Amino acid sequence: MVSVDENILPRIGAHKSIAKGVDQAIDRGLKSTCECLQIFTRPPRRWEPGKTALNENRVRAFIHKAKEANYYDTAIHMPYLPNLSSPDDDLYFKSIKVLQEEITKSDLLKAPYVITHLGSPKEETREFAVKRVAGAIDKAMEVRNSSTMVLLENSTAKRRKWGKSVDDIVEVINTVKEPQHVGICFDTAHAYASGYDISRPEVLHEVFDTIDSLLGKEKVRVIHLNDSKGQLNSGIDHHEHIGKGNIGIQCFQELMQHARFKKISMILETPKDDHINDKTNLDLLRRLRKR
Ligand SMILES: [Zn+2]
Ligand SMILES: [Zn+2]
Repeated sequence: MVSVDENILPRIGAHKSIAKGVDQAIDRGLKSTCECLQIFTRPPRRWEPGKTALNENRVRAFIHKAKEANYYDTAIHMPYLPNLSSPDDDLYFKSIKVLQEEITKSDLLKAPYVITHLGSPKEETREFAVKRVAGAIDKAMEVRNSSTMVLLENSTAKRRKWGKSVDDIVEVINTVKEPQHVGICFDTAHAYASGYDISRPEVLHEVFDTIDSLLGKEKVRVIHLNDSKGQLNSGIDHHEHIGKGNIGIQCFQELMQHARFKKISMILETPKDDHINDKTNLDLLRRLRKR
């Protein structure tokens, strides 16, 4: 039997709700056997920040519980309404303000990552979008006073081209003023639905080789572990339980076992339903992690 070297294992966890207080996300994480965590700090489909979840006591409890649970790499996901590529100035500046607020909360909660999608430039060009997002990040970063990193996540959509490819993210990172504070969150389901056939491990490695060669190593800090209901290159953003979708188990096995992924925080965003929950998916991933 091959003994497992703890040092080569990636940490695995899930997205958890902060309902009834931000610290409750940690209780929920522990209950599901998460080793790391992602949260929204506010209702994701509204502009207003939530009221009670982040009061002073709750923040203090979060920091305390996070330390106890060894959750040192919590990721904050931006809400869905902001659009950092928007050609509409009102929406654009409102979006930058939300990104600033989330960076401030990441300082407050000692959660090192803020994850955002690139948004949509509507009818504008890719060149416009690159400058627009980079400008938004530069502006938002002015409030940063700890080690927060903004992570750009690849997205997918049927009718939209921008924000799907690793090249788009690379170009934004190469345009911002402080690229050392901007990294990548790689979503497996979005990548697959955008045409990266990562069901084949060699394609997964090609994607990471490209990122490493263009940006240097360790730029990918978070991976969203989602299987895909959508077909390859379908543009359908529909997450599925691990091993139950079109990506299949091989990709996730490679992510669990290959040393190049060991420092990346891996977060499930799989459906919440009665049959398979986060713990079931994490148990499966742990079995894959054992070689
Ligand atoms: Zn996302
Ligand atoms: Zn995601």
